Amino acid sequence: MAETERTLVVVEDDANIADLLDLYLRDAGFRVLQAAHGERGLQLIEQHRPALVLLDIGLPDIDGFEVCRRVRARSNVPVLFLTARDGELDRLLGLELGADDYVTKPFSPREIVARVKAILRRGQPDDRDAHDITHLGDDYEVDVTRREARYRGQAVALATREFDLLAHLSRNQGIALSRQQLLDSVWGVDWVGDDRTVDVHVRQLRKKLGDDLPLATVWGIGYRLG
Ligand code: CA
Repeated sequence: MAETERTLVVVEDDANIADLLDLYLRDAGFRVLQAAHGERGLQLIEQHRPALVLLDIGLPDIDGFEVCRRVRARSNVPVLFLTARDGELDRLLGLELGADDYVTKPFSPREIVARVKAILRRGQPDDRDAHDITHLGDDYEVDVTRREARYRGQAVALATREFDLLAHLSRNQGIALSRQQLLDSVWGVDWVGDDRTVDVHVRQLRKKLGDDLPLATVWGIGYRLG
């Protein structure tokens, strides 16, 4: 694995949490760069092009939401949010920032390592199905091999989890899937969180891919593509 693929940036002002994450992530073979405030985090992300960013929300200067917004303006690097259980989680889910995942504090460092590995695994193309392209109507293509969604031939930048959700829906075209089914398939059965997460990601897909996307809300159930 190239150096950059093993580099993570941890933006966290609580030194105890940052050091604990550092310890476990290094132990798992990652190179960890720490930032104790948002601006420093943005610098490290710009300079080192990490494979993933772990991002606290309550930071001394700009908060994690703003950091994510600025990162997203120029990069699709996966972002794993570290949130407190208070209002932060609601705000996170409401902001449609394209976060790839989140964990709520207090968390176990082992869980974080597992999440990081899972996100990075999803980001890797699978060579076994070299021509895995699904067409959605005339305008859209979902290319699983290149992990690319295209609208009229133009690639549309999606966050990791947004792409996974779209790919799963496209493999099940015409079938209404419940939020829970989508969580189990896309986020994994071990994932603990709120099914509003699915709604947030669907909103992002609609926003990024446009009104022509044949993604229907099936009331009382969930969503259906095509
Ligand atoms: Ca904090």
